[in-house]
Amino acid sequence: MLTVTAISRSFGDHRVLHDVTFEVRPGRMTGFLGANGSGKTTTMRIVLGVLAPHGGEVAWRGRPVREGERPSFGYMPEERGLYPKMAVGDQIAWLGRLHGLDRATARANTDRLLDRLDLADRAGDQLEALSLGNQQRVQIAAALVHDPEVLVLDEPFSGLDPIAVGVVLGVLRERAAAGVPVLFSSHQLALVEQLCDDVVIISGGRVTASGTREELRERYGTRRHELVVSSDAGWVRDLPGVRVVELDGPRAVFELDGGDDQDVLRAALERGAVRAFGPVVPTLDEIFKEAM
Ligand code: ADP
Repeated sequence: MLTVTAISRSFGDHRVLHDVTFEVRPGRMTGFLGANGSGKTTTMRIVLGVLAPHGGEVAWRGRPVREGERPSFGYMPEERGLYPKMAVGDQIAWLGRLHGLDRATARANTDRLLDRLDLADRAGDQLEALSLGNQQRVQIAAALVHDPEVLVLDEPFSGLDPIAVGVVLGVLRERAAAGVPVLFSSHQLALVEQLCDDVVIISGGRVTASGTREELRERYGTRRHELVVSSDAGWVRDLPGVRVVELDGPRAVFELDGGDDQDVLRAALERGAVRAFGPVVPTLDEIFKEAM
């Protein structure tokens, strides 16, 4: 388990992280969600030890993360720091060597990753000759070449087309299935909704919600109910203890304000046929807006 406990950080007078606390579990894809400027990159840089926190602690397997352990972390920074003019395969293998792999292992890992990322035929090309999407795949290979124990990826899916998202996701899921905690940031909610097991939502430098995707949906979702009848549902507005939040012809979405959902159902049945009735499962997008 990777734990982040009460991390704080300022730049000058500007406090950008306030007691940020969450955990990234082995074998899980954890999505770190927040708007631009909410503190995701700063948090990730602290997790990686690139930046020191002003308070709090990062621990891996119960021990504070120390300088020497960091090479076992795989990091994909937002500012992608690879060499445009160097051949893709040589560059990845060289990074593997920097992380302490012997030459044969570095080369074997490079070949396996490039193959897995559908880049095997580009290994001899300069990085800058590749499309931006393919360059991003190379960045993923760079973060993974040394078989890191922990993966921290800053916006790994931004700028990728759906096919590339699928390929990268497959590779990350394999690492997660092998027991690696995977933390990745994103501001693209719809995407993350499909990709992550656990979610941490950060807003203004504070964690406003965290848990499994299902937990978050349940926590934020049980309040809303949907009713679909066969004619106009406007009468729901007049029921006591019910607050209509959306009304569209025969469909009403409501929250209970002292009322009982079964009373609403009875009232609907008295008026005619009921096409649908039940809790509304919110999208992550809705949860995110509420947790902001
Ligand atoms: P995100 O990754 O969610 O977009 P960041 O962690 O990059 O957010 O930034 C959070 C806040 O910290 C922003 O207001 C940003 O301007 C500020 N910030 C980040 N890095 C620095 C820095 N090196 N110096 C000053 N301010 C910074």
